[in-house]
Amino acid sequence: MKAITLLGSTGSIGTQTLDIVAQYPDQFRIVGLAAGNNVELLASQIRQFRPSIVAICSEEKLPALKEAIKDFAPQPIILAGDAGVIEVARHGDAETVVTGIVGCAGLLPTIAAIEAGKDIALANKETLIAGGPVVLPLIKKYGVKLLPADSEHSAIFQCLQGVPDGGLRRILLTASGGAFRDWAVDKLTEVTVADALKHPNWSMGRKITVDSATLMNKGLEVIEAHFLFGLDYENIEIVIHPQSIIHSLIELQDTSVLAQLGWADMRLPLLYALSWPDRIYTNWERLDLVKIGSLTFREPDHQKYPCMKLAYAVGRAGGSMPAVLNAANEQAVALFLEEKIRFLDIPRCIELVCDRHESDNRPNPSLDDILAADKWARQEVLKATEKLENRLRIISLR
Ligand code: MG
Repeated sequence: MKAITLLGSTGSIGTQTLDIVAQYPDQFRIVGLAAGNNVELLASQIRQFRPSIVAICSEEKLPALKEAIKDFAPQPIILAGDAGVIEVARHGDAETVVTGIVGCAGLLPTIAAIEAGKDIALANKETLIAGGPVVLPLIKKYGVKLLPADSEHSAIFQCLQGVPDGGLRRILLTASGGAFRDWAVDKLTEVTVADALKHPNWSMGRKITVDSATLMNKGLEVIEAHFLFGLDYENIEIVIHPQSIIHSLIELQDTSVLAQLGWADMRLPLLYALSWPDRIYTNWERLDLVKIGSLTFREPDHQKYPCMKLAYAVGRAGGSMPAVLNAANEQAVALFLEEKIRFLDIPRCIELVCDRHESDNRPNPSLDDILAADKWARQEVLKATEKLENRLRIISLR
């Protein structure tokens, strides 16, 4: 039975991971759970999965959590705050830590888990995008595995099983096209938060759903693929595939192309990250190609979605630049979700902040450099937008 710790247990990744654990109680057990601030859901997860340690990130929620499970035995160790989440990440005999925390907040707990010798089921791409230059050497140093749980990277990882070193030539990342794939460019000025949160295919958290609408999610995934699979950026391509049935493809040196297919269900990549290298029988709905009928593909529209090109440029620049891109995006998306900036301001904010960082880019950043770049970029986005009399208009770039 595999022992698992889950960071971000009340979010979209967390609840889907626990669905899997509940379905396969003879395969998986929970050692630790960490959540942001949802006391009620965390308390019910503690009762169901009986972890030995838990943490709630929001410190003011600690008394409520203790109260909610005071009659429950055995009592887990109960912690709070960022330090509590880090303690959960490194605690006990968990073999794999699933990182479902949103954003760069997942970086320090992930590093703690690696240093404690745990394999990482990576559902938090921001960890690798911001922290790649620090995380990858640690993975090597501690001899742990980094198992991708992002659907595209899981697809690539699955296709790569059995491919010899040096066999990979090109990665083709598929993209659904997000909420606005069929909208005219000029209509994007009127986008509301509710519009951006309507993903056509996937059910995911709010931040990543907005990232899918701007196509920044795909840009971030290009950088994630570079770090995970070691290909140069010119060999990582994006193709729009509106049905989201092919989750990505790889081309081998001899031009043979392999793909992984399935319904758009995050449980499948999560299950593979947990069961690798084994395959577990499931009774989930099986793929029906006749029902799907056709699979179509088109070129990404870089005019309409500038975030993809931004991500390629930043990925090539490397160093602390991806951390800046990621942080600027997180902050801009948060402002958009609070209805303080418009949809089209998101790429403008990111480009502005990345431009300003160019002369300060550190080629081999330390963890402190990355954390400083992250903090700086968030402040720059806030500064750039707070000068507006009314934030609800499009900022001008320069
Ligand atoms: Mg993905």
